[in-house]
Amino acid sequence: MGPRELGLGSGASGHAARACAILGLRCRKRGARFTKLFDYHMHSTYSPDARSTLDEMCESAVRRGLAGVCFTEHVDFDPTDAAYGYINYKRYLSDVDRCRDKYGDRLDIKAGVEVTYQAEFADDIRDFLDTHRFDHVLGSVHLIDHVFVGSPSYFVGKSEAEACEPYWRETMSMARSGLFTRIGHLDYIKTRWPREYGPSGLDRWRGPMTDILQMVIESGAIIEVNTSAIRRQLGGPYPDWETLELYRQLGGSGVTMGSDAHNASDVGQYFPEVAARLERMGLAVRSECEALCP
Ligand SMILES: [Zn+2]
Ligand SMILES: [Zn+2]
Repeated sequence: MGPRELGLGSGASGHAARACAILGLRCRKRGARFTKLFDYHMHSTYSPDARSTLDEMCESAVRRGLAGVCFTEHVDFDPTDAAYGYINYKRYLSDVDRCRDKYGDRLDIKAGVEVTYQAEFADDIRDFLDTHRFDHVLGSVHLIDHVFVGSPSYFVGKSEAEACEPYWRETMSMARSGLFTRIGHLDYIKTRWPREYGPSGLDRWRGPMTDILQMVIESGAIIEVNTSAIRRQLGGPYPDWETLELYRQLGGSGVTMGSDAHNASDVGQYFPEVAARLERMGLAVRSECEALCP
């Protein structure tokens, strides 16, 4: 897959070593092989829809030369969802600790969760976050009226407005809730976008997206750049490059990068190329490697 398919434009070479040199991201302390790239969004078998173990995910991250990873296992409050009540937090956190012992000399490993935001469960989410400690908590909208927005069936029988308005309303509610400092895959609604609506993209939802980005920035949160949309050949990451430019113009201070890997082979996928473009745009890619690499 070349840069055009990645939605990276003509300026990105796609070559990892060159990208890191441009970024100045090379970590001196850890040697030339390691960069400061950090995958802040990935799922292991502690999520019901993922296939690789924590160890397999860590080994893949080491092979890709990442500085660190944050696991973001699914947490859902909707009893109809497969992730509802799935994770055993105690076992998860102790298993991450075990991986730190095993891989800690090569990889910074964080334990996080990806919470599905639904306004109707906002109080449950707040209680949960008050009583559980994670390194990072990512908030994402996956379900509208208990239906997964990443499936074609979500759109069946709906006009574009009927499909989109509740999605943007829920996303705005998430931004306004102040529950999350990290906001996941903002334009996820484009995943199975029906052809009959016309092309997806910022021009279709500039109004609600602008309001949401302003609210995210005001709340002190940052958004993630999720490369799984490139894997799905959606022409760029979640959110798309135009939205990332709008975020920067509105004063967005930085982003995290996440592969949303549910498979070890997808960890850190497309990171050097995407990070290079983000840096050229003037968006700081956050990494916790600074603590390890002064
Ligand atoms: Zn998600
Ligand atoms: Zn995810």
